[in-house]
Parts: sequence; structure tokens; C-alpha cells
Amino acid sequence: MSNIQSQTICQKLVRQDVAEMTAYQSARRETTLNSNCWLNANEAGGNRKLQIALSQLNRYPDFQPQAVVQGYAKFANVNVDQVLATRGADEGIELLIRSFCESGKDNIVICPPTYGMYKVSAVSHNAGCNLAPLTADFQLNLPALAQHVGKCKLVFICSPNNPTANLINKSDIIRTLELFKNSALVVVDEAYIEFCEHQTVSELLNEHSNLVILRTLSKAFAYAGLRCGFTLASPEIIAVLSKIIAPYPLSQPVAEIAAMALTKQEIKIMRQRVEQSNVLKQQMIAFLQEQVWLEKIYDSSTNFILFKTQLSEQLFNSLANQGVLIRDQSSQPQLEHCLRLSIGTEEELNKFCQAVNQFNLLMTKASTKQALKTTSRSI
Ligand SMILES: *Cc1c(COP(=O)(O)O)cnc(C)c1O
Repeated sequence: MSNIQSQTICQKLVRQDVAEMTAYQSARRETTLNSNCWLNANEAGGNRKLQIALSQLNRYPDFQPQAVVQGYAKFANVNVDQVLATRGADEGIELLIRSFCESGKDNIVICPPTYGMYKVSAVSHNAGCNLAPLTADFQLNLPALAQHVGKCKLVFICSPNNPTANLINKSDIIRTLELFKNSALVVVDEAYIEFCEHQTVSELLNEHSNLVILRTLSKAFAYAGLRCGFTLASPEIIAVLSKIIAPYPLSQPVAEIAAMALTKQEIKIMRQRVEQSNVLKQQMIAFLQEQVWLEKIYDSSTNFILFKTQLSEQLFNSLANQGVLIRDQSSQPQLEHCLRLSIGTEEELNKFCQAVNQFNLLMTKASTKQALKTTSRSI
């Protein structure tokens, strides 16, 4: 602020908190990274050929395309008026904060280590972001949550949690719903629920009017490129969010492809993909367990694995140099030296294994050299 004269027009006008905030480091912002094996964003591997004749594009699409909302309601076993289709689950997060938090006044609560977008959306709306960190075994800390009763509008719980991969105990979610019954909405982000389908809390929607559930087609449905997600909540909450959302949230092509993704046949294919992913996950767990440098593998109910090694930095860099990109989680609380591996295709995972073997070879060479040096010095 020292030299007002040298500021650009943008610098003069931008909100100060926006100028100071860091953007979410999405897995696709790293344009400088030259990788041919993306195992860093928990997408489904493989591609599909779409056989679809899109309808005309001169008209605006429906506000909430019926086939999409009905299809999802049927899949999620909820009523149509309990569903809002959005541009990814990320838009659901943003709509909730914009609809329920007064800028500069209200707060959300998050339970780190967890998904990064809750905080980014809160900061961008100038809502406070308070913490109730997970316990050492990555479960809810109920006494810590209780401290926030009456001081927040939204509590975000991610189950299964990204990046720790574990489920949050349902009984604790129910206690949280009761704790905030009269004061806050409890948002359960179920982006990965298809990998453990029966663990959903969707059956609680009818008894708990402060429950909101986030869903997406980006993970198990293998449509991250489509940008389509869903918010499930009481009709009253859905009506509020509908006031704030863009007038035509889903483009016509997105609506048509999403409707197709939600047919019986495609849901069956999605479930097969989940089974396949779970088999590959077991193989990757076995492979990682063979590694001498492995310190810990965390339980996974998702399509990714979190693991810990004191060599996390060296391993991450070595893999990146070999064109295999995984995600470094070291900067999150409780996750020092932790890396996250997405369960991609068999081919991608083979590349990962080869790159790990190469890393081991380089490490052995380096330590032999070091040993020789030490020996020659001691002679
Ligand atoms: C990927 C992810 C999302 C975002 O989903 P989109 O529908 O692609 O916006 C939301 N929450 C969690 C926990 C995720 O991992």
C-alpha cells in the first residue's frame, strides 16, 4: 500500500482479503508439470467413447434438468425435491456458504486434515473458518466440536475423508447433528461414498433437518471432466440454495451426459468400476507394504491410499521426474511425510510400481556409494 500511484487498476479495486488469499492448488493448476501418469486427483482411470447425439443448443437449458435430478434422486434413494444439481460438489460448498454465512460475520467449522475447498470458499466469501481438528485416528473430536455450538452456521465433515481415506463413525455424525440441531447445518461431503455405498448417511435426511449431503459424478462415476455434483437436503434448504445458484447451472451437453450416466445400465458399470478399483487398491497396498521405507498405510474406504514415509520428499520428486504424479499431503496438520496415491488404471499403477522400483534402485546405489565413501574414509 506504500505507493498508491504505482498500483494497477486491478490492485486498487480488488478486495484486500481476495488479494491476500491463496487459490486452491487443484491438481490441474500445475501446468508446468510434465506428467504422463496422473495419480494425484482421485479421478477414475480409463476413458470411454460417448455415443451421444446432443440436442440443439440455441435454447437455454432447464434450470434443474428433470432426467438428471430424477435419476440422481432414484440412485440416492431420496425425493426429487431433496436434490439440487450443481457444477460439481465444489459449487454446493460455495452455495451453502454464500446462502448461510453473512460475509464478515458468520463462521464455518472444518475438521482438518480434510478437503481444501471448504476453507477456500469461506475465505473467498469473507466467512470465518474455524477448526475442530480430527483426533489422532482421524475421527471427529466431539468435545472440540461442542466448543463451536452457537458460533458457526455450517460444520463440514468429509466422510470418507479426503485425504485420509477413512470413514467417519456414523454414530459421531449423528451426535454432531444433535449437537448443532438448533444452531448449524452439518454438511457431510460424500464425494467417495460409492466406494463404500452402504455407509452413506442419506437415510438420516428425513429425521435431521440440519443435515446436508454433498455428492459428485467426478469420482466413482468417472466424470470429473463433466463438472456435475449434487446437494441433498430438506426441500426447504434446497429452495434457499436455488435462489443463489446461477440461472442455468448445468449446460445442455452436461445435462444430457449426466442423465445418461444415471441410467440403470451406467450405474451398474459404475459399481463394476468400484469393484475393480478395490481389487487394484488391495494390490497396491500389498506392493507398498513390501517397501522398506514404508512407515504406515492408512485404512482406505476410497479410491486412494494415504501412506507415510520419511522419504516422502525424495520419493515424490523421483516419481515426478519419471512422469508419475501423486499428491504430497505433508503440509496438512498430522500428515507430515504423507503421500496420497490415486487408484488409477492397472496400466497407470504399473507405471507407478516401475517408478518406485527405479527409485529403490537409485536409493540403493546412493547408499552403496555413501557406504563406500564412509568405508574408504575409515580406512
Ligand atoms: C473431489 C472432491 C470434491 C469435488 O468434487 P467436484 O464434484 O469435482 O467438484 C468435493 N469433495 C471432496 C472431498 C472431493 O475429494
